[in-house]
Amino acid sequence: MKIARISTHMLRSSFTYGAEGGVGGNLHLRGMDTLAIRVETDSGIVGWGEGFGFTLCETTRFAMDKLVAPVALGMDAADIAGTMKALARRFHNFGRNGAVTFALSGLDIALWDIAGKAAGKPLYALLGGAQRQLVPAYASLLRYGEPALVARNTADAVAKGYRHIKLHEVKLDCIQAARDNAPAEVPLMLDINCFWDTVPQGVAFCHAVQGRNIWWVEEPVWPPESFGPIAAVRQAGGVAIAAGENLGGVAEFAAMAAAGAVDVMQPSVTKVGGVSGLVAVGQLARRHGLRCVPHSPYFGPGLLATLHYLAAAEVAEPLEVYFAELATPPYPQLVPQGGFVAIPDAPGLGFELSEAALAAAD
Ligand SMILES: [Mg+2]
Repeated sequence: MKIARISTHMLRSSFTYGAEGGVGGNLHLRGMDTLAIRVETDSGIVGWGEGFGFTLCETTRFAMDKLVAPVALGMDAADIAGTMKALARRFHNFGRNGAVTFALSGLDIALWDIAGKAAGKPLYALLGGAQRQLVPAYASLLRYGEPALVARNTADAVAKGYRHIKLHEVKLDCIQAARDNAPAEVPLMLDINCFWDTVPQGVAFCHAVQGRNIWWVEEPVWPPESFGPIAAVRQAGGVAIAAGENLGGVAEFAAMAAAGAVDVMQPSVTKVGGVSGLVAVGQLARRHGLRCVPHSPYFGPGLLATLHYLAAAEVAEPLEVYFAELATPPYPQLVPQGGFVAIPDAPGLGFELSEAALAAAD
């Protein structure tokens, strides 16, 4: 089974996220873009993947269209490990993290979708079988920066059934507003996106947020690939530390684990090498006795692939669901109910992209 055709589709949607003004704003996002990658085999099976992401989608698309796709045509779609290794070696000197890696990640996801369809099995079955039919979800709130908005959206997430909530806030009044509007047993995760420059600053932040049922502090210090400072924050901070969404491959996760930097590994399926990368990081985390809770603030095939991974994972961990409403969601069926997401049973990823989203794509 050979790769016969590859095309890229930019799914664009307006979105709301519970802030004044309604649309856009956070991280300067004017819309919520998804780079969907369509792979067709010579046997006629079509699989879909997703490469990271947001305002980088056009760049990843260029890497896919101009660099990766021409080389991947004719390669074996059934030998995912062999094909992906050959492509990684072919392009390694163009960067082992970034747009090329994100394009390769999207291709890997599509090949797993194809593998499921070829076998007549859902992706989770290829990953060892479902350990659960409902995967818990956590609400990943965008950054509001205002206590009143954080309070309102935290309460909204709780009302929608979420029992785990992540903030992207740094200010203590915003964090406290979330704590005051969620039941005490609902843990908060604090993603500060490498906000602090020094270890003492990161440690002081961790100390300041203690006593609020904090599940983890995410990416406490800059830069994300410098594991020594992250480990130092973990040692002195007194709270669990999570990181990994900005790592480009399994080797970097191994180095992060060896440094003792984190309690929670966060591979991102659209960045770390697709489903293959996710599985490898999950196995690594298990060997080190660490949690593996993927990064998945997406709406397309990357989110769906992560859902299957978590359905098959030995330990139940929550799926990151970005707390935003899209006007044209790639998968309208993929809606958390009561804080859980049901896994689809159809072969491969289990859902097809919405006709409306594809029709509006460029
Ligand atoms: Mg993060």
